[in-house]
Amino acid sequence: MIIKDKMKLQEKCSPVSIKEGEEIGVRLLHELREAKNGIGLAANQIGINKRVCVINVKEPLVLINPKIVEKSKEQFVFAEGCLSFPDSKIKTTRHQDIVVEADNHEGKLSFSANSKNIDDAFECVCVQHEIDHLDGITMFDREFKREPIVKGVNAPKKIGRNEKVTITKGTESKVLKYKKAQPMLEDGWTLSIS
Ligand SMILES: [Zn+2]
Repeated sequence: MIIKDKMKLQEKCSPVSIKEGEEIGVRLLHELREAKNGIGLAANQIGINKRVCVINVKEPLVLINPKIVEKSKEQFVFAEGCLSFPDSKIKTTRHQDIVVEADNHEGKLSFSANSKNIDDAFECVCVQHEIDHLDGITMFDREFKREPIVKGVNAPKKIGRNEKVTITKGTESKVLKYKKAQPMLEDGWTLSIS
C-alpha cells in the first residue's frame, strides 16, 4: 500500500541500522515493482518512517541513511511525478549534479543530469526526490516558480529596456530602468506596471 496522505509524508524519517535498512530496501523494491510505473520509492511512502529509499532507473539501488554531501549550483527544470500523487505531474527545479553518501555504500555516489543519456537525468532527479521524501519534503515543495505575474490593466505589455518600471518586494518598492530591474525579478522582486 502506497501512502497518499500529504500530511503523513511531511514527517521526517529516523536513521536505521544497515541490517534493518536492507530488509526495508527489499520490501521497497518489491513495492516499486508492483507499482510498475515508478522509478523510486521512499520508506515513509509505505508507512515506515526510516531513512531508506530505492531508485530503479538503470539498476536497482538501495540507499540507507543517504545524505547529499555536495550539490551543484546549476539547476534544471524537470517534469516530475510521484507514486503518492499519481494524478500530479509538476515541473520542479533540481540540482544538475549531486554527490551522495549512504551507510550501505562505500565511498561516494555521483549523479549528474549533464549527460547525453536521459536516464542519467531521471536517476539524478529521482535520488533527490527520494531523499527529500525522507526529510518530509514532497515534489510540491520543489515546484519551479515561473516569472512573476505582471500586474496591470493591460498586462502583459512589451517593456522597453530603458523604460522606468516599479518593482516591489514586501513593503519596499523601487523605480528603475527595466534592464536593471530584470535580474532583481529573479530575486523575489515583483514587477508592477501602473
Ligand atoms: Zn515521491
